[in-house]
Amino acid sequence: MISPETLIVIIAFIFGAAIGSFMNVCIYRLPLEKSLVLPRSFCPKCGHQIAWFENIPLFSYCLLRCKCRHCGNPISFRYFFVELLTALVFAYLALLYTTSGGSIPVFLLKAAFICSLIVVTFIDFDFQIIPNEISYGGAFIAVIASFLLPELHGTSSHIRGLGLSLLGLIVGSGSLYLLGVIGTWVFKKDAMGMGDVKLLGMVGAFLGWQMAFFSLFAGSILGAVVSFFLLITGKVKMGNKIPFGPYLSAGAVVALLWGQDIFKLYLKWIFG
Ligand SMILES: [Zn+2]
Repeated sequence: MISPETLIVIIAFIFGAAIGSFMNVCIYRLPLEKSLVLPRSFCPKCGHQIAWFENIPLFSYCLLRCKCRHCGNPISFRYFFVELLTALVFAYLALLYTTSGGSIPVFLLKAAFICSLIVVTFIDFDFQIIPNEISYGGAFIAVIASFLLPELHGTSSHIRGLGLSLLGLIVGSGSLYLLGVIGTWVFKKDAMGMGDVKLLGMVGAFLGWQMAFFSLFAGSILGAVVSFFLLITGKVKMGNKIPFGPYLSAGAVVALLWGQDIFKLYLKWIFG
C-alpha cells in the first residue's frame, strides 16, 4: 500500500509536470508577446498542431522519441527538462509539506514563485530580457500575499508582513540599482540591467531583504563560477554579455529552500 504522504508527493509530481508543460508555452510565447492560451501548441518547425496525446507532459517526449510526429524534426530536450524540473520542484515542496507541515497556500505560493523564476531563466538565456509581466506581476502578487499570509515572512501580523515585503522590494531593487550605477561609473560602460533590478525587487518582496541579499550573493558566485568555466572552455569570449537573470533566479531558489539553514550554519561558524 502507498502511504498518503507518498501519494501526495506523486500527485504533486504529476501536477508539476503539467504546470511545466504550460511554462514551456510561457517561455516560448511571452517574449514574442503572443497569447498564452490560443492558438493550440504547434511544432515550431512545421507548424503541425499538436494533438492531446502528443502533449502529455514527460510521456509524449519519450513516446515520440524526441521527434515531431509530422515532420520528424527533433523536439528540443529543453521542453522535457523544464517539465521534469518543475515536477521535481513540486514533489520536493510536497515532501517538505508532508514532513514539516505548514500552510498549503504558502506552499502553492512558493511553487508559483519558483515556476516564475524557471520561466525567467530560460527567457533570459534566449533573449537577454526579463519580461515585466513576471517581475512587476510577481512583485505585486508578493506584496499582496505578504499582507494576506504574513507567515511568508515568519510573522503573524498582516501589517508587519506587508512592511517586510515592501522593505524587501526596495532593498532588493535598490541595492542592485546602486551596484549598476557604481559599475557603470567604474567600467565607463553601461553595467545596468534593469530587468535584473526589477527581478531582485520581486525576490525581495517575496523573501524579505535579507534573502534578497543572499540571492544576490549566491547568484553572483554562481554566475562568476559558470562564466569562468565558459571562458576557459572558449564557449564565450571576454566582453560577451552574459545574462545575470538565470543566476539570480538560482540564488533566489537556494535562498527560498535552504537560505535560513545556510544562514544559521554561517552564524554558528562565525560565533561558535
Ligand atoms: Zn513538425
